[in-house]
Amino acid sequence: MKHVARKRFGQNFLVDRSVIDAIVAAIGLDGKDCVVEIGPGLGALTGPLIEARAAAGGSPLHVVELDRDLAGRMARGEMQGRIVLHQADALGFDFAALCKEGEKLRLIGNLPYNISSPLLFFLIGFAPRVRDQHFMLQREVIERMTASAGDSAFGRLSVMLQVHYRMEHLFDVAPESFEPAPRVVSSVVRMTPDSTLASRIVDHDIFASVVKKAFSQRRKMLRNTLERHALMVGLEEAGIAPTARAEDISAVAYVDYANRIAAYAKASGRSISSIL
Ligand code: SAM
Repeated sequence: MKHVARKRFGQNFLVDRSVIDAIVAAIGLDGKDCVVEIGPGLGALTGPLIEARAAAGGSPLHVVELDRDLAGRMARGEMQGRIVLHQADALGFDFAALCKEGEKLRLIGNLPYNISSPLLFFLIGFAPRVRDQHFMLQREVIERMTASAGDSAFGRLSVMLQVHYRMEHLFDVAPESFEPAPRVVSSVVRMTPDSTLASRIVDHDIFASVVKKAFSQRRKMLRNTLERHALMVGLEEAGIAPTARAEDISAVAYVDYANRIAAYAKASGRSISSIL
């Protein structure tokens, strides 16, 4: 029986073989590490991934699918025995538990667009165990992820992800490559964890709070948006122009500024909760 795509699960199935091949080629599977596909759906990517992984002599592919019907199809279909199926919600799934000692995770997915931001934030927790992530998302989201300070797309998502990953916008995918066709253009991104910046963050709660507050009113000048924080540590002290807006400040500058606030908290003996 034909599966009817469920909107609530963000189901847009890939039907364009050239796009599928381009994604599999970009990933470049070898026999190492632990490969996990999030949201395999009807298996458009899964089949070619299984083949590429088998050719490289690696362990079977893990797949995490929330939709019971699709997971059931996969368990009964031609892929049975060639994948390790987890019928589960990726948001909350313990990806690290799949890795053997010394293995890293390679996460892959044509992700459900309705949960893309929460899922990207959730996956940050696994960054130290991840080798890379290749995801299809709305192009607009990937533009925000990869934007630089000064770009209009630069926002909270850019800063929060750029401190943990290097990101490459690989290529765009037209709506007609899916069934049903989404209303937007999609893109594929490669995310490679890089802890250089994240390891400099003294207090991750303070950092997250500063970034969230800064972008809560992105059109306002930071000295007004960050009023409470800015009373503790002046923006100028951190080399930030008093007229700057949230989108003008690089991820590095946010880290420096948040670290100054953390240092102020320590020196003044103030609790973190009184600062956030
Ligand atoms: N990979 C398939 C393809 O490219 O044709 C399907 C991609 S479709 C955009 C997203 C898939 O993610 C669907 O199979 C959907 O059921 C699944 N999904 C949605 N929410 C999920 C969640 N929270 N955890 C795991 N899978 C989820």
